Amino acid sequence: MKNVIPHTFSITREQRNTLMQHNGFLVWFTGLSGSGKSTIANAVEKALFEKGIHTYTLDGDNVRKGLNNNLSFSPEDRLENIRRIAEVANLMVDSGLVVLAAFVSPYKADRKRIKQIVGTANFVEVFVNTPLAECERRDVKGLYAKARAGEIENFTGINAPYEAPENPDVEIDTTKVSVAEAVSIIIKKLEHKLH
Ligand code: ADP
Repeated sequence: MKNVIPHTFSITREQRNTLMQHNGFLVWFTGLSGSGKSTIANAVEKALFEKGIHTYTLDGDNVRKGLNNNLSFSPEDRLENIRRIAEVANLMVDSGLVVLAAFVSPYKADRKRIKQIVGTANFVEVFVNTPLAECERRDVKGLYAKARAGEIENFTGINAPYEAPENPDVEIDTTKVSVAEAVSIIIKKLEHKLH
């Protein structure tokens, strides 16, 4: 942007990582509503915390209620929602945190953009691939019933598409693995990135 000239700060990311004693990166959970993203992200954060890792979780609740409370679910606003989340995650990663983000994020192009914003090396994609029928059976928030009744427009899986990742770093089907198993699969994947 014209006339915005970045200042050179003397503390570097490397120095912050040294102080933290681990690297910072973004673990992005994508999948249908009710697939288990928040449950697993929360359990992964707990496991990391217990190892002395500095973490933070971004999800629909803390982002849509604050930073993005002026955004709707229109296509333009969904794009802006994702852009802001990625930019915030990027600052947090730069500060040295391991950031966990749980968002349906149904579009491939959006997830690609997030990866570009934080950088490929700082991005771990976890696809929580629970079958739609199971997500609908759980209907944790009662949203599938509403969507089937025609009360929600553009509900992912019902009347809006979900574009599955082709090459996720981790893929979890919660009808096949428990929360504890999912955590151990994900932690194993993160270990080499942490140190
Ligand atoms: P999302 O964040 O993807 O919308 P939630 O984590 O809010 O999904 O809800 C997933 C629901 O599925 C929770 O009620 C959770 O207890 C349940 N569940 C059952 N088995 C699993 C599993 N193996 N992994 C994650 N969640 C599971």
